[in-house]
Amino acid sequence: MRLKDKVALVTGASSGIGKAIAERFAAEGAHVAVNYLPVGAQEAAAETEVTTFGVTGIAVSGDVSRRDDVEQMVATVVQRFGRLDIAVNNAGIEMKKPFLDLTDEDWHKILSVNLYGAFLVCQTAARQMVKQGQGGKIINISSVHEDVPFPGYAPYCVSKGGLRMLMRNLALELAPYQINVNNIAPGAIATPINQQVLDDPQARANAISEIPWGRFGKPEEVAAVAVFLASDESSYVTGSTYYVDGGLTQQVTKY
Ligand code: NAD
Repeated sequence: MRLKDKVALVTGASSGIGKAIAERFAAEGAHVAVNYLPVGAQEAAAETEVTTFGVTGIAVSGDVSRRDDVEQMVATVVQRFGRLDIAVNNAGIEMKKPFLDLTDEDWHKILSVNLYGAFLVCQTAARQMVKQGQGGKIINISSVHEDVPFPGYAPYCVSKGGLRMLMRNLALELAPYQINVNNIAPGAIATPINQQVLDDPQARANAISEIPWGRFGKPEEVAAVAVFLASDESSYVTGSTYYVDGGLTQQVTKY
């Protein structure tokens, strides 16, 4: 129970990595708010998810790229649990499109969720943590593409590179308040965001050929690092990126 009685908010937590983090945090004793984007079956997924927790959890609707939604989300968590100790910026989207074909709309869509959304959650959560006066933990799920370029994914890479610099700045600005700020940079993890690649045997084999560990990662393997960064054991860790990529970054940058 490494997070016993802590209160956590995980964005985009009705699927994939966010879901695994929310479930693991709950298993470690935290009260978890599962944020979901209110489209399709996400609300039902989030509601079902929290019923599996052995501790109290809530599903909170909201689009991270909207300030009103984010402020309401954090207010709901504080109203329900009295505080916020851990914020995980996990919500994210990607789009494959050649740079020469990108529209303004494409650019703004990716940047507004992946980077502006993270800014909003970091700021709103940090304001609450500062008010509480007992420190806190902010964890951003970036990507190996916070550092490694990826042709066809310019806005995504820019958003994650921006998230790296946001994390490094906040590590300094929030240190006086004992708020640890770190990134987790996953490589290729088997989640819905990669469904097309996972469903195409050739694309899947190509992706695996780049991974020294010889397989896709599991969302639970990302969640394991998130637990460490959310726990008291990471008390002196701030301003770092933790790669969870089966060696992918070393492979693609070896020359
Ligand atoms: P996913 O598609 O299952 O999860 C993304 C979640 O974000 C979804 O639940 C989606 O509904 C939610 N979301 C999207 N826009 C939102 C918004 N505006 N407001 C609130 N929620 C929103 O895929 P995933 O792989 O679990 O992705 C989670 C994070 O991990 C993303 O930030 C992604 O960029 C990052 N990541 C994933 C991989 C991978 O290989 N799966 C690799 C590197 C980084």
